[in-house]
Amino acid sequence: HRLMTLISGTAVAEKVLEECRRDIAELAKLGKKPGLAVVLVGDDPASRAYVRSKDKKCRDLGLHSVKLELPAETTQEELLAHVETLNRDPAIHGILVQSPPPKHIDEAAIVRAIDPAKDVDGFHPINVAKLALEDSSGFVPCTPLGCQRLLVDAGIETKGANVVVVGRSMIVGKPMALLLMAKGVGGDATVTVAHSRTKDLPAICRQADIIVAAIGRPEFIKAEHVKEGAVVIDVGINRVEAPGTEKGYKLVGDVAFAEVAPKCRAITPVPGGVGPMTIAMLMANTIKACQQAGA
Ligand code: NDP
Repeated sequence: HRLMTLISGTAVAEKVLEECRRDIAELAKLGKKPGLAVVLVGDDPASRAYVRSKDKKCRDLGLHSVKLELPAETTQEELLAHVETLNRDPAIHGILVQSPPPKHIDEAAIVRAIDPAKDVDGFHPINVAKLALEDSSGFVPCTPLGCQRLLVDAGIETKGANVVVVGRSMIVGKPMALLLMAKGVGGDATVTVAHSRTKDLPAICRQADIIVAAIGRPEFIKAEHVKEGAVVIDVGINRVEAPGTEKGYKLVGDVAFAEVAPKCRAITPVPGGVGPMTIAMLMANTIKACQQAGA
């Protein structure tokens, strides 16, 4: 029986962070220290947890970290003023506003207000355009960037591979497709993007050498979606009830791991797959922003 590889995001993320440490040491010789500002509006518990872990990772690495926690009543104008202050702050190289903001905030307007050179989330239209143009000076969203890095590090050839990306969000699916179709390492794939309007998703997915699942539905991708020997990258992070556990919930991916894994050549787990890569790529993007600042 063929052996299935479990792709450890935790291990590859550690490797990325090791590279970050090296880059930080090089920057220190030039008297530079990368700085990241994370802005949180309101008190959504999941968002708070993300912001806390980003702040902690920065501090672990010795980055300058600013955590701006604003009340839910913060107005659009107040938030824009904070962004403007951070845009002008020379100690800050990366800015991100944690999503989702409260309903009264126009998120697209906030993203457009961030200096594209500090937009380490890669959501600003300038950076979206640079990704489409294959201009490497831009910032690529951290999650798809992490998925690509996982494939490259696991030695999964994307060149000429049939890849099906399930999901077309601006945060994951769409930039993932752009990265995979770009020329060069981790790209050159033949990419199909599927979404909620796709007809016969199982049949489309069964064509795939590589499936990237970014759907937001617990254990949605089943054995019937996956051909024998395929590689599966599971982006999903879903809380499902787990009575009797301490927290009362557990995290599962968008892939039904137990039934899919036995068919795979390689697969990422949840947790310990794409999740740790996302935050590692955020650190890498912040360092890149610092390297490019005043370069
Ligand atoms: P969105 O909800 O923005 O996008 C989900 C996509 O899945 C949409 O394009 C939607 O189609 C598609 N979809 C929904 N239902 C179906 C269906 N039945 N069949 C086919 N396609 C479907 O989610 P995100 O892209 O932001 O996130 C996706 C998942 O990844 C979530 O579980 C999220 O928690 C996780 N995530 C994980 C991160 C990490 O660090 N590991 C970071 C970011 C997200 P349509 O466009 O037609 O609505």
